[in-house]
Amino acid sequence: MTQERDFSEAFPQSLELTDDDSVLQIVWDDGHTSRLRLDALRAACSCAVCQGHHPSQSLNLKPEQFPEIRIADIAPVGRYAYHIVWSDGHDTGIYTLKTLREMENSA
Ligand SMILES: [Zn+2]
Repeated sequence: MTQERDFSEAFPQSLELTDDDSVLQIVWDDGHTSRLRLDALRAACSCAVCQGHHPSQSLNLKPEQFPEIRIADIAPVGRYAYHIVWSDGHDTGIYTLKTLREMENSA
């Protein structure tokens, strides 16, 4: 855990689940608000299980596969990422602040 601190811009001021817990809303300290649907966030998981170690191993997840997905637990990883445990039991996903910030608002 030494090389990940490449994110030097905005930092989340608050995280909140909205829209019946189907949307993760992040307010950043530069005033930007991200509203990310959980199905899109789940499908974007970048862990080795979901994406493989090679593109041919990717599960090619789609948001439509996760209509009822919820966040079971979310915890900061240092100051660069969040570890999300999903209601489907998937718990190896790490979402960097950079990834979260760069995702398109989907809600
Ligand atoms: Zn994953």
